Amino acid sequence: MANLISGKEVSSYINDKTAAQVSELNEKGISVSLAVIIVGDDPASKVYVNNKKKACEKLGIVSLEYALPENTTIEELLALIDELNRRDDVNGILCQLPLPAHLDEEAVINAISPQKDVDCFHPVNVGRLYTGNGIFKPCTPAGVMEMLKYYNVEIQGRNCVVIGRSNIVGKPMAALLTAENGTVTLCHSKTKDLASHTKNADILVAAVGRPKFVSADMVKEGAVVIDVGIHRMENGKLCGDVDFDAAQPVAGYISPVPGGVGPMTIAMLMDNTVTAARIQNKVI
Ligand code: NAP
Repeated sequence: MANLISGKEVSSYINDKTAAQVSELNEKGISVSLAVIIVGDDPASKVYVNNKKKACEKLGIVSLEYALPENTTIEELLALIDELNRRDDVNGILCQLPLPAHLDEEAVINAISPQKDVDCFHPVNVGRLYTGNGIFKPCTPAGVMEMLKYYNVEIQGRNCVVIGRSNIVGKPMAALLTAENGTVTLCHSKTKDLASHTKNADILVAAVGRPKFVSADMVKEGAVVIDVGIHRMENGKLCGDVDFDAAQPVAGYISPVPGGVGPMTIAMLMDNTVTAARIQNKVI
């Protein structure tokens, strides 16, 4: 039976370190702040924004929320971002995605100053990630890396398989594992014989967006299985991209849903916000 990888435990460890850094900056007279922009009334986005606000409050980070109406124009949104880019009292900026269809997400991502881009979505920060001199970490994949580190999972030389190649999870996940000397295979919907790849994985990261997609027979005996997926089932309970009950007896380590990767994403966002404040205030 696999050992559990607890995102609750690891995120709490990261959050303690972040709170200590915030206190240290506060003692130097520096406050740490995150501006969060939300456009429209998407209920899921509201929940995410609220969770980010709560996390900021818990760690002593000043949270500035900008809730804009659904009919906000791109000019209005870009003007707000421009103002936040210029303000010295704002360290991090994020715009909750997805945006209403009439707003160009790429233009919005590109408008956020790379020095304040705590989601690590700006092309400059994405480029830095691949050249190995990044200032920010892509939150969800960086959270997975922290989980592996906390549980002393060796990455160097091991076969790492990532299912999913999105810009926010799969691709940066593959980049971070590669940077730690893993031998990485990035799978997607056009991959032939997916199970032949996953069964060879010492470390398997599922970011597919399909409930219980990874079955027990896709998992190598003793593998480390990290489940990034999150889905609400008809019975109201949450599940991931991995069939947890079936995979647990086969895997060596496995992250559950809920209580796995979920809490790590916000923890890494807070960590990036403190990094932004440190760099902007030259406290390295
Ligand atoms: P996404 O943008 O929809 O990407 C899904 C990826 O899975 C795509 O690359 C797609 O391949 C691949 N895929 C789909 N069906 C496949 C199949 N049958 N075989 C192999 N690959 C397949 O999703 P995402 O944004 O990366 O998110 C993935 C999951 O993680 C979702 O459940 C999301 O809710 C969750 N998530 C959780 C957190 C967190 O904080 N815990 C954060 C972000 C996302 P193609 O590229 O070929 O289409």
